[in-house]
Amino acid sequence: LEPVPSDIEIALAQKPKDVADLAREVGILPHELELYGRKKAKICLEVLDRLKNSDNGKYVVVTGITPTPLGEGKSTTTIGLTQAIGAHLRKNVFACVRQPSQGPTFGIKGGAAGGGYSQVIPMDEFNLHLTGDIHAITASNNLLAAAIDARMFHETTQTTEALYGRLVPLKDGKRVFSEIQLRRLRRLGIDKTDPDALTEEEYTKFARLDIDPSTITWQRVIDTNDRYLRSITVGESPTEKGITRKTAFDITVASEIMAILALSTSLEDMRERLGKMVIASNKSGQPVTADDVGITGALTVLMKDAIKPNLMQTLEGTPVLVHAGPFANIAHGNSSILADKIALKLVGPEGYVVTEAGFGADIGMEKFFDIKCRVSGLLPSCVVLVCTVRALKMHGGGPKVVAGQPLSKAYKEEHIDLARAGCSNLKKQIQNAKLYGIPVVVAINRFVSDTENELAAVREEAISAGAFDAVVCSHWKEGGKGAVALAQAVDKATALPSNFQFLYDLKLSVEEKIEAIAKNIYGADGVSYSDEARRKIDLYRSQGFNDLPICMAKTHLSLSHDATLKGAPSGFTLPIRDVRASVGAGFLYPLVGTMSTMPGLPTRPCFFDIDLDFETGNVVGLF
Ligand code: ADP
Repeated sequence: LEPVPSDIEIALAQKPKDVADLAREVGILPHELELYGRKKAKICLEVLDRLKNSDNGKYVVVTGITPTPLGEGKSTTTIGLTQAIGAHLRKNVFACVRQPSQGPTFGIKGGAAGGGYSQVIPMDEFNLHLTGDIHAITASNNLLAAAIDARMFHETTQTTEALYGRLVPLKDGKRVFSEIQLRRLRRLGIDKTDPDALTEEEYTKFARLDIDPSTITWQRVIDTNDRYLRSITVGESPTEKGITRKTAFDITVASEIMAILALSTSLEDMRERLGKMVIASNKSGQPVTADDVGITGALTVLMKDAIKPNLMQTLEGTPVLVHAGPFANIAHGNSSILADKIALKLVGPEGYVVTEAGFGADIGMEKFFDIKCRVSGLLPSCVVLVCTVRALKMHGGGPKVVAGQPLSKAYKEEHIDLARAGCSNLKKQIQNAKLYGIPVVVAINRFVSDTENELAAVREEAISAGAFDAVVCSHWKEGGKGAVALAQAVDKATALPSNFQFLYDLKLSVEEKIEAIAKNIYGADGVSYSDEARRKIDLYRSQGFNDLPICMAKTHLSLSHDATLKGAPSGFTLPIRDVRASVGAGFLYPLVGTMSTMPGLPTRPCFFDIDLDFETGNVVGLF
């Protein structure tokens, strides 16, 4: 339709096919499918066993230039490209995308189902609770948080004998260790299985985690932008006998359990990772893990359904797997390895899997390669880098966009020089992708206000920066048909040989790995560390965590740490404020500049527009 209706109007106008029919079409057997109503279903991991001898399809990762408030359309392009491959070129295809957080959905950004005629449907269910995976993460994260404070309380208020008696209670006159407790004993070097055989020194060591409260890194989470939870005091009721503690909430999608969901390769692997999560150090400086708290089994139980990817569809009926949603600026920003693996098997060697990495190539794509691909062993044969003329104009020095005020003319009229100047960002991001040795296809996501001259200028700049091809696409306005040329370019690029290499070797020091990212990807001159960051790096090195990859928590709005610096900034020093460890997920997590792990709500949040239409029962106002 012209003009293109709103995202939700388009989404509501299309009736999704029954998800059981979709599953049949893509080769999922009925016993591998768990229906959640008729429009979404979970896929059981057994499908991977059945298809273990099949060849994988071609793997394509979608990334973008540095985001601006004007939007680049990475999700829209991921969906438009798969609609083009599946519904127009008639080849097997899956899109693999993240589940959106309710923080941005009700806060600043809105949903993440794509837009225009390139969307995942039903988009309201996609953007809201889906099948409850994020809620499961919140529940397991907070069970562990509650367990840590309760354990410290009990260790403070009980004698060691009473504590040990309660941790290993008598059953039919006999004490028996649980499997998880036996693991803890082995880690402590106590080679005994009979609880009554431990010496006093041994059972004290076993029963007392002796957590140093000042070292606790495990925070509570909630999937809401709630700035007032950035710093809180817990334990203020008289029942906690004055044992209070300052702590904080993170948003759920920044949590380690979300990262684990995205990086696990099986349920067994997830259990291992959950057990290895380090929550604090004890008073002798050794790491204390979820296994030590005895909670690994319970966390696995809470997460056992969340580990199954969710099947949905695009507006043109092609399949989509929605699974995991770690934020890209404060977490690793990629959907799950399991969803990609299942999709790659289901499409077969001639098919395609298009997976999306969050935010700009400096953030989501860098973490896609250096964290996700390192764990999965999967390598894409092509990078699709999304840009828009409007966003490039902003990188080229275009006027600031102020919410609630009309968009400046610079973005609506032809300004070739501004667009060309902004290509500094596009060029840097193309070079970033090429550092990994993978061909890059630039997708120029066309807005109605773009002129032919502007589009041609951007295309020329992209090719001169080393892109294999640069294609103007109009899938937002026309659906898959508008991305057929992009799909053809991607097809050619995937046939090229790739010379993949990681950006850094895991054996380098933590500082060297951080510098490799800061200098080569962000364009920094160097890195500075706060005393706290240095102390943490020394601690993690001494605890044996040097060889983990790095997951930078940095603003997504600039290649640098300063959100106001557009284009391709140079001559800056990247400040590392703090470093955290997500040992179960398997990365160290430096906080750059003032990055916060709990977003806030703006003056005019998206929720003002969201309501239920009681006549139709439809959700309105989501975008
Ligand atoms: P990203 O994944 O880069 O954050 P999205 O794909 O979620 O961006 O798109 C953000 C918003 O921009 C959506 O509401 C979408 O409808 C809109 N949008 C995307 N591409 C276009 C376009 N070519 N023209 C107009 N609006 C667009």
